Amino acid sequence: MTVSRSSLLGGLALEVTFDAPIGGMTWYGIGGRADTLVSPRTDEAVVELVARCRAQDVPVRVLGGGANLLVDDGGVDGIVVRLDNEHFQRVQYEAESAIGAMSAGAGVDLFRLVQDTKRRGLSGLEMMAGIPGTLGGAIRMNAGGAWGQMSDRLRTITHLSMDGVVKHLHADSLGFRYRGSDLPPGVVLQCTLDLNEDDPIAVSQRVKEIFQHKRASQPMADQSAGCAFRNPVDPTTGERTSAGAIIDAAGLKGHRIGGAAVSDQHANFIVCSPGASASDVRRLIDDIRTTVAARRGVTLDPEVVIWSRGDDS
Ligand SMILES: Cc1cc2nc3c(=O)[nH]c(=O)nc-3n(C[C@H](O)[C@H](O)[C@H](O)COP(=O)(O)OP(=O)(O)OC[C@H]3O[C@@H](n4cnc5c(N)ncnc54)[C@H](O)[C@@H]3O)c2cc1C
Repeated sequence: MTVSRSSLLGGLALEVTFDAPIGGMTWYGIGGRADTLVSPRTDEAVVELVARCRAQDVPVRVLGGGANLLVDDGGVDGIVVRLDNEHFQRVQYEAESAIGAMSAGAGVDLFRLVQDTKRRGLSGLEMMAGIPGTLGGAIRMNAGGAWGQMSDRLRTITHLSMDGVVKHLHADSLGFRYRGSDLPPGVVLQCTLDLNEDDPIAVSQRVKEIFQHKRASQPMADQSAGCAFRNPVDPTTGERTSAGAIIDAAGLKGHRIGGAAVSDQHANFIVCSPGASASDVRRLIDDIRTTVAARRGVTLDPEVVIWSRGDDS
C-alpha cells in the first residue's frame, strides 16, 4: 500500500522531519534514522495522526528521551512521535486542588522534574534521581530501582491507544510490576502523580544520596541504555536476582564485540565506544544471552527496547 505524506500529515499541528537521525538522539548515540519524525503541538494532533496511521496501516513508535532504546542501523519506517513540544512539557502543581498532587505532560524530562520537586519540598520522586528520560518513557518502562519505581507515585495517565482512543486510566488498574505493566500499546500523553510535602533539605539529601549511589555503582558517563537485561527471578527463592552479578559470574565483564562492551564497572551495562554500531550491541546482547544460558543456566530477558525497520514494537 502506498501512503502519501499529505494524507498522513496534512493539516495537523506538528513539526515534521524526514530522514531524521534518531539513533543519535538516544543515549547509546548510535543507530539509524527514522523515515519520518514528528513533534506534535497538541493532543488533538497526536490523536488524529494515530487514527490516520491506523487507517493506512502505518506503524507508529514513540520516542521519549531515548535512554532505554537501541535503533537498528537500518533505521525505522512509519512514524516516530516525539513529545518534545512545550505542550507536553508542562507541569502543574496541586492538580485537582490536592496539595502534593501534580499533573505533567509525558514529555517532561525526569532530571528536570526531580530537581523541580526537590526545590519545592515535594517528596516522592527521589527514587528517580539519576534515571534519564521522560515521564512517558518512565511510565512505559515502570523505571526505578532499589528505592522504588515510577508506579509508586503514579495516580492516573491519559493514554491514547493505537486504535485512536483516548482514556484516563487509573494506575491501580494497569498491573504495574517490575519494569513492566499491562499498559496497552499506545502513547502516554499526560499523567498525574501523588507527592507529599516535606522539608526541601531532607528531599534534597535523599536525592543526593541516591544519585551518589548510582554514580558510584554505574557507568553513568558512558554511552549506554542503563541495564541491558531485566533481573531474572531465582527459581529457588522466587526473588529477583542481579543480572549484572550473573553476567559477571559468567566471566563476561569487559567482553567486547566491535565498539560495544560489557562494562567493567557494572556487568549489566553495555557501553559503546566511538565507532560502535547498533549491530555490535545486538550481537553482544545475543552473545551474553547465549553464554549466560550455557554457563549459568539462566535465561536473560532484554530490558532495552530495540527498534528495527518492519518491526513495529
Ligand atoms: C545512564 C543510565 C542509567 C539508567 N538507570 C536506570 C535505572 O536506574 N532504572 C531504570 O528503570 N532505568 C534506568 N535507565 C533506563 C532509562 O532511563 C529508563 O528506562 C527510562 O524510563 C527511559 O525513558 P525514555 O523517555 O528515555 O524512553 P525511551 O528510551 O525513549 O523509550 C523506552 C520505551 O518507552 C516508550 N515510550 C517513551 N515515551 C512514551 C510515551 N510518551 N508513551 C508511550 N510509550 C513511550 C518507547 O516507545 C519505548 O518502548 C538508565 C539509562 C541510562 C542511560
